[in-house]
Amino acid sequence: MNIEARPLKEGLYTWPSDDPQLIASQCAACDEITFPSQESCPNCTGRDVNEVLLSRQGRLYTWTVQRFPPPAPPYIGPSARDSFQPFGVGYVELSEGVRVEARLTESDASQLEIGMEMELVIQDFVTDDDGVVRNTFAFRPLPQGARS
Ligand SMILES: [Zn+2]
Repeated sequence: MNIEARPLKEGLYTWPSDDPQLIASQCAACDEITFPSQESCPNCTGRDVNEVLLSRQGRLYTWTVQRFPPPAPPYIGPSARDSFQPFGVGYVELSEGVRVEARLTESDASQLEIGMEMELVIQDFVTDDDGVVRNTFAFRPLPQGARS
């Protein structure tokens, strides 16, 4: 783990941390949980929201493999055909019932299966113009034997 690295976008997950967690907001009125966190509730528009940390594990709800560079912006990363690497992207449903859209560490379709258990990881993503490594969150398939 590269603790010198900084998040590509602040406020999405606890960092630095040995057990990083996604930061969401929960509405005090209707209990709706929103990720990324928002200042008001998208369900009831209530403004009484509290920060909550989400569980680090969940199940793969649906996924695909991105095989060509997405439009930039908003995509940040290698876009030249020779440096682009296909990557998995999907929705992971956490125990709170929240579905989080995220990169997957696995891009081999034969290794991905709806319903499989996934775990949050932070991975180095790009090095910015100042030489600072920026990281982002992703989910990886939970290794057999490590499942709780
Ligand atoms: Zn609400």
